[in-house]
Amino acid sequence: MTEKDRSEEVARFLRQREELGAGDLFMDGLTRDEALALVAHRRGAAVPTNRGAEQATSTETETAPFPTPDTLDLSALDYDALRQAAMGCQRCRLARERCNVVFSDGNPTARLMVVGEAPGANEDRTGVPFVGQAGKLLDLMLASIDLSRRDSVYICNVIKCRPPGNRDPMQDEIELCSPYLKRQIELVAPEVILAVGTFSAKLLTGATKPLGRLRGKIYSYEGVPLIVTYHPAALLRNRGWTRPAWDDLQLLRQVLDDR
Ligand code: SF4
Repeated sequence: MTEKDRSEEVARFLRQREELGAGDLFMDGLTRDEALALVAHRRGAAVPTNRGAEQATSTETETAPFPTPDTLDLSALDYDALRQAAMGCQRCRLARERCNVVFSDGNPTARLMVVGEAPGANEDRTGVPFVGQAGKLLDLMLASIDLSRRDSVYICNVIKCRPPGNRDPMQDEIELCSPYLKRQIELVAPEVILAVGTFSAKLLTGATKPLGRLRGKIYSYEGVPLIVTYHPAALLRNRGWTRPAWDDLQLLRQVLDDR
């Protein structure tokens, strides 16, 4: 396993711990000691090699202004203008290394809006959210309650550009990018929102609890019913979450049917 691979494993590990709200370690390919050493390493000095170069750049720029501070009022834009603004956005550091801005997929007039977290490598390459294995699983999850990406769902992420190395989005990146999501929700005007994964669940519910304690309830985002569940990528890693995710989908179907 390369240093970069290990760093990505640690990022996934930290997210799993947060989602579980528990102290158990359950990663493939790393012993407990390795994991703890890597966590300490991640919290401390920059990791050498290419990953380290990324982090060094990031650290340098955290105190520097972003290249093109964008003061455009997104709340006044229509859908096409919003999409156009995102495509050229330089609001945060993630603009520097992206291949594509990943704005949305699906039907902008759909009743259901699915909100994920951030693009990964496949999404960055294609410009489409939820492709690859996690995307296929999302499509299967939706099909299990008679919904299809093409016709009956609009899909987007909290963050529109890929965080390098699939690291978690930083708080300032979420704050700078979330006005796009806010305006997307206003313009798409879904009847129901499904937040998948920790970052979208916390942002849209305003709660800080781990995902495992947020799911299973119906929230309201600006008057729109909101349900939260695990990210399909997390489900691929943790089969134990399949049953609760299935329950969340049934809850979602019920809310859609009741409207
Ligand atoms: S992540 Fe969002 S705020 Fe940052 S550059 Fe991309 S579109 Fe702009």
